[in-house]
Amino acid sequence: MSKQRPRTTPAETSEGPLPLPDPKKLLKLYYGGFQLPSPQGGFLEQLRVRPEDDGSAAVLLECNTSSLRYALPVPKATRTERSKVKAMQEEGADPHCPRHGPGLRLVRTGRELACPLCGVVYGKV
Ligand SMILES: [Zn+2]
Repeated sequence: MSKQRPRTTPAETSEGPLPLPDPKKLLKLYYGGFQLPSPQGGFLEQLRVRPEDDGSAAVLLECNTSSLRYALPVPKATRTERSKVKAMQEEGADPHCPRHGPGLRLVRTGRELACPLCGVVYGKV
């Protein structure tokens, strides 16, 4: 594999991103488009969204004061969310993210529909 070596920062540990306390509260803020407070004080800046194989995802974040990195797990789509998206497709509308709301359209990733911010798969194309 000729994979490019990831950029490392001095604060990065070999253990990878840290878990966050109270992920439910942070997810609510994240879906609402609000800034996420860091456990270290300051705010968490979003680095990227990492989709997982099972349809869930993780948002990778970096604290803007300590440069510590965190991962916020995003639960996979529920049956209700999937059926909401299916109903939007059947109406001929562009389905939007059931968590982020009408402002955020789902995007095609191969044969699946996913939210670019959640990283979660909500339906099939
Ligand atoms: Zn979303």
